[in-house]
Amino acid sequence: MKFIIATNNAKKLVEMERILQPLGIEAVSARDAGVVLDEVDETGTTFAENAFQKANAAFVKTGMPAVADDSGICVDALDGRPGIYSARYCPELCHSDEDRTQRILDELEGVPEGQRGAHYTCAICCILPNGERIEIEEICEGTIGYAFIGDGGFGYDPIFMQGDKTFAQLTAEEKDKVSHRGKALRALKTKLEAYMKGKNYADK
Ligand code: IMP
Repeated sequence: MKFIIATNNAKKLVEMERILQPLGIEAVSARDAGVVLDEVDETGTTFAENAFQKANAAFVKTGMPAVADDSGICVDALDGRPGIYSARYCPELCHSDEDRTQRILDELEGVPEGQRGAHYTCAICCILPNGERIEIEEICEGTIGYAFIGDGGFGYDPIFMQGDKTFAQLTAEEKDKVSHRGKALRALKTKLEAYMKGKNYADK
């Protein structure tokens, strides 16, 4: 069985392939399936709605089962911003991941230890061949540091901390174990395993 992976992000594609391949599912990138994701508006008001919009666009266009995710960082002291706008935060001033990350540090200037909580969220939507959906949402809690630290990861990882380390200081394997995306992909795997065996995936 083939699944369309509705993402333009090469890293997400590789992660999804790693999960799907052992289940006998062939991952096909949206591009290879002729789906232009830039045309898909992320107009939802939640991570789950945006994940559905991306997966559904691929499903409707190709008639094939599809998987998509939507993720971002929510900062407590900023009332949950940037949230679903993480990839396009403050577009008038920020033109790169680095700009957006610095923007959060600037906005948190003067915010004391103990009020710098934040979490990453990852929503996954998988549309099965019969049109039914598997929907997953996982979070990963942490705090926002005071400066960029570490060279690994991507996006906001240099300022997102668990304990005394930023996510940019973790290896990919260390991050996978605790991250929102790692947790969500493992949950997807469990549900797809049940589905492939003809079991009730909703309870998994
Ligand atoms: P998406 O590709 O539309 O889901 O956008 C996700 C955005 O959220 C990324 O561009 C990053 O800015 C941010 N983000 C999501 N997950 C992570 C992560 O694991 N580390 C750092 N930034 C992340």
